[in-house]
Amino acid sequence: MTTIQPSKTKELVINWHLTEVCNYSCKYCFAKWGRPNELHRSGQEINTLLDKLADYFIKGTPTLKGELGYENVRLNFAGGEPMMLGSTFITALKLAKQKGFKTSTITNGHYLVNSKLALPENTLDMIGISFDSQSLDTRSKIGRKDRKGNSFGTEDLKQALASLTLSQRGIKTKINTVVNSLNLDEDFSELMMELKPYKWKILHVMPYGNNELLISKKQFDRFVYRHSGLGLPIFSESNSTMTESYLMIDPQGRFYQNSTNKVGYKFSESISLCGVENALNQIEFNSRTFASRYHKADIDVVVL
Ligand code: SF4
Repeated sequence: MTTIQPSKTKELVINWHLTEVCNYSCKYCFAKWGRPNELHRSGQEINTLLDKLADYFIKGTPTLKGELGYENVRLNFAGGEPMMLGSTFITALKLAKQKGFKTSTITNGHYLVNSKLALPENTLDMIGISFDSQSLDTRSKIGRKDRKGNSFGTEDLKQALASLTLSQRGIKTKINTVVNSLNLDEDFSELMMELKPYKWKILHVMPYGNNELLISKKQFDRFVYRHSGLGLPIFSESNSTMTESYLMIDPQGRFYQNSTNKVGYKFSESISLCGVENALNQIEFNSRTFASRYHKADIDVVVL
């Protein structure tokens, strides 16, 4: 049996779902928290939350640091679509950088090419861009378009990656593709060979809401197999390998995780009000269990 030793270069990842709001309406989307009281409405509250997180995880010596031996803490801004928040997203990004976090975001890409606000230079260490199809028709059927019918396409993806590479020194670019019944037979080989992302993450569509998109494990494996052997940086993730091995914060600034009986989520109070340690205790967070799960998982694969 192989024992996995804690790595000294390990990065702790905190996944902050900044907002539930999104300009797209993918049929497989599960970002549904209800919108009231999202924290991003107040710059002061964002600042307070980031201070609490930095004091605890970066400057402090929590048990988790001992368990994981992490050296960096990466704050991953997720959604909904985090870039929809415009200047607030940029403020949060800059603040996170100033406070010592590595930063990343997961985006549908739309605002990388359709925003008047440029990303400030060197504020993003990593980005994950969702891209499910080179065909507008397929993207539309999946729901990857806004109300006006705009959809982030192949040329947009190329343009976005080129400009990110220029403005964000050393950025790691990842492309996330959710394989479903509509893009199952599509060939991405040529595109991925041209784009050369740092990683291409291939995910099996999750059973959520819309069953017409579901595919079997065999079909998923066949998609992955078809794209293998070409030297592409593929990381595939089927439903059975998905685990929660990162800390999660909801749009209201609370930790949350699956409840032990796997029905719904368990939420802490606001981290800003009760402090990081109390909030972790409220979701019955166990740093040892977390650390053992963390070492088993490839965090890059799971989160971004
Ligand atoms: S782009 Fe992402 S957040 Fe938006 S609807 Fe699609 S899956 Fe959900």
